[in-house]
Amino acid sequence: MSKYAAPLTDMRFALFDVLGAEALFARLPGGDAATRDVCDAVLDEAARFAEQVLAPLNQPGDQEGCHFADGVVTTPKGFREAYTQFCDGGWPALNAPEQYGGQHVPEAIGAAVKEMLDSANLSWANFPLLSHGASEALKQHGEEWQREVFLKPIVSGRWTGTMCLTEPHCGTDLGLLKTKAEPAADGSYRITGTKIFITAGEHDLADNIVHLVLARLPDAPAGTKGISLFIVPKFKVARDGTVGARNALACGSIEHKMGIKGSATCVMNFDGAEGYLIGQPNKGLNAMFTMMNTARIAVGYQGLALTERAYQNALAYARDRLQMRSLSGPKRPDKPADPLIVHPDIRRMLLTQKAFAEGGRVLGYYAALLVDVIERSEDAAERQRADELLGFLTPIVKALLTETAQESTYCAVQIFGGHGYIAEWGMEQFARDVRITTIYEGTTQIQALDLLGRKIMQLQGAGLRHFVEEISAFCHAQQANPELVEFIKPLAELTQEWIGLTQEIGRKAIGDAEEMGAAAVDYLFYAGYIALAYFWARSVAAADASAGHGAEFKQSKRLTARFYYSRILPRTRGHIAAIRAGAASLMEMPDALFG
Ligand SMILES: Cc1cc2nc3c(=O)[nH]c(=O)nc-3n(C[C@H](O)[C@H](O)[C@H](O)COP(=O)(O)OP(=O)(O)OC[C@H]3O[C@@H](n4cnc5c(N)ncnc54)[C@H](O)[C@@H]3O)c2cc1C
Repeated sequence: MSKYAAPLTDMRFALFDVLGAEALFARLPGGDAATRDVCDAVLDEAARFAEQVLAPLNQPGDQEGCHFADGVVTTPKGFREAYTQFCDGGWPALNAPEQYGGQHVPEAIGAAVKEMLDSANLSWANFPLLSHGASEALKQHGEEWQREVFLKPIVSGRWTGTMCLTEPHCGTDLGLLKTKAEPAADGSYRITGTKIFITAGEHDLADNIVHLVLARLPDAPAGTKGISLFIVPKFKVARDGTVGARNALACGSIEHKMGIKGSATCVMNFDGAEGYLIGQPNKGLNAMFTMMNTARIAVGYQGLALTERAYQNALAYARDRLQMRSLSGPKRPDKPADPLIVHPDIRRMLLTQKAFAEGGRVLGYYAALLVDVIERSEDAAERQRADELLGFLTPIVKALLTETAQESTYCAVQIFGGHGYIAEWGMEQFARDVRITTIYEGTTQIQALDLLGRKIMQLQGAGLRHFVEEISAFCHAQQANPELVEFIKPLAELTQEWIGLTQEIGRKAIGDAEEMGAAAVDYLFYAGYIALAYFWARSVAAADASAGHGAEFKQSKRLTARFYYSRILPRTRGHIAAIRAGAASLMEMPDALFG
C-alpha cells in the first residue's frame, strides 16, 4: 500500500518563507484573523484528516469503484463516513465568506489543504471539488435570493455542486451545445438535454446536488454567444429555500474509466427539470469562466498533489530496495547490493519529482495568494494587477502542474520497476488517476491556446508584463548576491528571451493564424519552465534568509535548484526550437497522406 505524509514543512516554507503569506494576510482586510498560529493549526488538522481518514481509503476505493443501479450511485466503502467527518470538521466552509456560514480563511491556506486532500485520495476529493466553483459562480453572478438559498447548504457541505458543460457531441467546443432551457410562467426554466462526464453528478454523500448547467434559451444566438447558465437542483428548491420533490433529472449511467475509479463520472439526463437562470440570458459564458477558472487552478493542485505523493513513495522505495552496485564502488558493503538511490538515473528521476513538487508548490500557492489579493485588497490597482497576473498564470498552473505530474507518476512507476506496474504498491494507480488531469477542465492544448491566444495576444499580455517585471525586479535585487549568481544570470537572460520570443510569435501569427496554434503548447511549457525557475531561485533566496530552517534544508533547496537549472530548464531550448520551426512542418502534410 502506498504511503502519504503531508509535507507540512515544505508547505509552510512555500507559504510563509518564500511567498510571505503571513505579512500579506495581516495587511489584507479580514486577513488578520489568519495569524500564523491559526494557519498552522488548520494545516495540522487537515494533515491529520488527509493522512488518517482519506489516505487509507484510496486504494480500496480504486479497487471497489462506484456502483450504479437504477439511477442511484453508491460511493466506495468508507467514502460516505469520511465525507460526514469532513463536513463535521467544517472543511467545506473553510474559504467561504462568513455571511454564508464560511470561515473566510485565505485561499492560499485552502490551496494547501486541497493539496493534502488530493494527495491522500484524488477520487474522494473530487466530490467536494466542484462545490467551490459552484459557490464562486453563485457568489459573483447569482441573485441575492439564490445566494441565500443555495450557498449556505453548499458551504456547509450538506449539498454539493456540479458543473454540467459537456455533451456527447460537444466537449472543448461549447458553442455546439444543445441542451435547451424554456421559460416557465413562474419565472423559472425547464431544462432538457443530456450532459456526459459529469463529476459527482449523482452520489450518496449529500442531501441535495446543485447542478450548474449550461443550456440555450429558445431565441439564443448560435455558438458561445447563446449560452446561459442555470441552477438545477436534484431536489427542487423554492425561492424561500423550501426543498421539494425530486426534479426531472436522473443519472443514466456512470463511466468505467482508466483512473479515479472512486469518483462518479455521470451521464446526466435532464427531462424538463426545473431550474433558475444565473446572471443574464446568453451571458452564461462569463459565469462559467468564473467556475472554470477556479476549477482549473484546483486541477493544477491535483497534479501537484500526485507529484508529491508519487515522489514520497518513490523516494522511500529507492532508499530501501537493494539492486546492483554503485558504478563507483559499493556504497553499502555490509549489504548484498546498494540501494537504488545510489544510481545516477534513479537520482535523476527522484530529483525531477522533487523539483516539480517543491517548485510547483510555490507556483500553485502564489496563484492562490493572487486570489486572496483579488478578493480582499482595498487597492483597486493592486486588485487589477493581481487579476491580470492570475488570468495569465491560470493556464500555466493548470497545464504545467498536471503535465509534470504525468512525468512524476511515470518516474514513480519506473523507480519501482515491475513492482510499479503491479497494483500492490499503488504506483500504477497514481499513473492512472493523474492521467485525467491534463484532460478535464480544458486540455493542455486548450490551456496553451488560452495562454498564447487570449491572455497574451488578445489582452496584449498585461499579465506577462507584470510577471516579467516581477522576475526582473527580483533579479535586479539579487544581482550582487554571490550566493544566487548561478541562478540569477540564466533567469534574467531567459526572461529577456521570453519577451522577444513572444513578439516573434505575434509577428508570425499576423501573417498566418496557424502559427499561433502551432506554437501554443511549446510556448506554454517554455513559459512554465521559466516560471518554475523563478520560483526555484526565490526558494533558494528564502531558504538562505530563513532563521527557522537548518543547514540541511537550505542545502537541499540549493542542490535541487541547481539540478533544476542544469537538467530541466534546458528543456526550454527544445521548446524554442520547436516554436521557431513554425507551422509548416505540421500543416504542409495533406490530410490524405497521414494514412
Ligand atoms: C473523468 C472525467 C470527468 C469530467 N468531469 C466533467 C464535469 O464535471 N463537467 C463537465 O462538463 N465535463 C467534464 N468532463 C469532460 C471534460 O472536460 C472533456 O472531456 C474535455 O473538456 C475534452 O472534451 P472532449 O472529451 O469532448 O474532447 P474533444 O473536445 O473532442 O477534444 C479531443 C482532442 O482534441 C483537442 N482539441 C480540440 N479542439 C482543439 C483545438 N482547437 N486545438 C487543438 N486541439 C484541440 C483536445 O485538446 C483533445 O486533445 C470530464 C471528463 C472526464 C473524462
